[in-house]
Amino acid sequence: MRNSEFKLKKARRSFICAACAAIVFGAAVSPAWGDADREPAKAAESLEKMSREEILFSRKALYDKVASATRIPWYRIAAIDQYEHTLTKAHPKDRSHPKRLTGIFMNEPVWSGLFNPDPNDSNPHSIGIFNGYGKDGSGDGLADMNNDMDVLYSMASYLLRHGQSEDDFSIALWEYYHNSRSVQRILQFSKLYEKFQTLDLSGHAFPLPISDSYSYRDTWGTRRSWGGYRIHEGTDIFAPYGTPVRSTCYGIVELKGWNPFGGWRIGIRDLDNRYHYYAHLQGFEKKLNQGDIVVPGQTIGWVGSSGYGKPGTQGKFPPHLHYGIYRDSGLAEWSFDPYPLLRHWETEERKAIQKKRKGTS
Ligand SMILES: [Zn+2]
Repeated sequence: MRNSEFKLKKARRSFICAACAAIVFGAAVSPAWGDADREPAKAAESLEKMSREEILFSRKALYDKVASATRIPWYRIAAIDQYEHTLTKAHPKDRSHPKRLTGIFMNEPVWSGLFNPDPNDSNPHSIGIFNGYGKDGSGDGLADMNNDMDVLYSMASYLLRHGQSEDDFSIALWEYYHNSRSVQRILQFSKLYEKFQTLDLSGHAFPLPISDSYSYRDTWGTRRSWGGYRIHEGTDIFAPYGTPVRSTCYGIVELKGWNPFGGWRIGIRDLDNRYHYYAHLQGFEKKLNQGDIVVPGQTIGWVGSSGYGKPGTQGKFPPHLHYGIYRDSGLAEWSFDPYPLLRHWETEERKAIQKKRKGTS
């Protein structure tokens, strides 16, 4: 289904099912914010000058505000917003909007209502009549699809229609996206934010403990022969059997098991919607299961030479970790060269180790 078709169907669905919601919640209910919160445009202007920490701090403040008004947990709102940020990164042209703190993007028919004669309607009352999602969250009387508070409040109000349990949340996500990958991602993100109670989960680690006993170079795109013609989608890090393999990021174990190409392999999803793939392992960390949360530097398995045959096959090539990264665009996944990131994480970790040594000597 084409994207525009999908959006149209989505908008049409909302026209049917949102009818009772308007009665329950009223067409234009606005939370009562203080005056200080009524100038989100200013916040957007200064976005360019803000540090990463300041941006995360401001985002968290917005999520908290909407959470306290709607009783939808902040981490669910944050998870949707973060997922939508990653979609915008993957589809900047389809989802172009002015720079703002939030990532949630609703197009005109979704925001203002499919049969609304004014696609740019910002009147919460008439949007409500046409069953659009748009609401006024900032308290200025307008439902502006580029206002951070309006966007978040509109999404939280939509979630509220479905209820507040975890199942209600999953159903609401399915009804909104009609894409099981989107639902899975957002539930993963939500789990991470809930567990750590912060948005700042960007720490990274090199996949092997820093030492002199491994080596790797940029082998992106070179030919593979086993199992037919393939392009090498990753970096091979050669190291002795049994070297610990560590998670490079905060994430969720999405996959664990055998594959004829990758042998014993494990896949971890991070909050940038990237899939980290570790292959040819000797074995997995026993306690680790699908759905578990991992942190940077946590041991997930050991270097081996498994793969290129039936389960348990090993020794067909020297022991190494095959490390790949895939980005999810919402409908498809593609790999990109992990080499520069590996170099970066390795350098950062070496620096940190040196700094620590200096501090203790
Ligand atoms: Zn490889």
